[in-house]
Amino acid sequence: MNIVLLGFPGSGKGTQAKILSDKFSLAHISTGDIFREAISAKTSIGREVSGYLSAGRLVPDNLVLEVIKAKLATETRGVLFDGFPRTVDQAQGLDDYFASRGQGIDAVLFLDVDEEAVVARLGSRRTCPKCQKIYNLLSSPPAKADLCDSCGGPLLLREDDKPEVIRRRISVYKDQTEPLAAYYKGLGNFYPVKGGPGPEAVAVE
Ligand code: AMP
Repeated sequence: MNIVLLGFPGSGKGTQAKILSDKFSLAHISTGDIFREAISAKTSIGREVSGYLSAGRLVPDNLVLEVIKAKLATETRGVLFDGFPRTVDQAQGLDDYFASRGQGIDAVLFLDVDEEAVVARLGSRRTCPKCQKIYNLLSSPPAKADLCDSCGGPLLLREDDKPEVIRRRISVYKDQTEPLAAYYKGLGNFYPVKGGPGPEAVAVE
């Protein structure tokens, strides 16, 4: 089973991806996490993508597809994609790759959350750079201020969750990622899910 999670930045893709990948034993592939890890490890890919992430712009499709194909080449489980694809060209690249292996995408789950709600959520999001756990200072704060409940690491506000970058990411999403809804509707595997309620309720739906 291969699943794509689609939705605004801050719609809850990362949180849902963790719940669903555990529940269905899927490999969770987050291109955002891959890029952030490459940046902190100072690899050549990290150096190449860092400017795009801090500006809230998309990494070029050819580089994203190269990273994804390298990941998929060694993956034997079904995959849950979080933050990928983000353009129609990436979606077509993924379809071609899967088709060449006799595979495909079984479902695209669209987390439907209002724009105002995601802007508020992103500003109060904190993430643990060590174990990637996600918190929200308003709805799911850590037990101890600024520290991760799971690994004790210090929580950070992502560079790209700062207000001016949030606005850029939302507009990039509308221009380049929103057209994916029509693309997947055309393929008949698109399922909208209301992303407003708490994480567990969304996962059940
Ligand atoms: P995310 O954690 O999914 O919000 O991604 C953080 C940032 O990584 C994005 O704002 C982009 O700069 C970059 N990024 C992540 N996934 C992709 C992708 N599929 N295509 C292009 N850029 C991406």
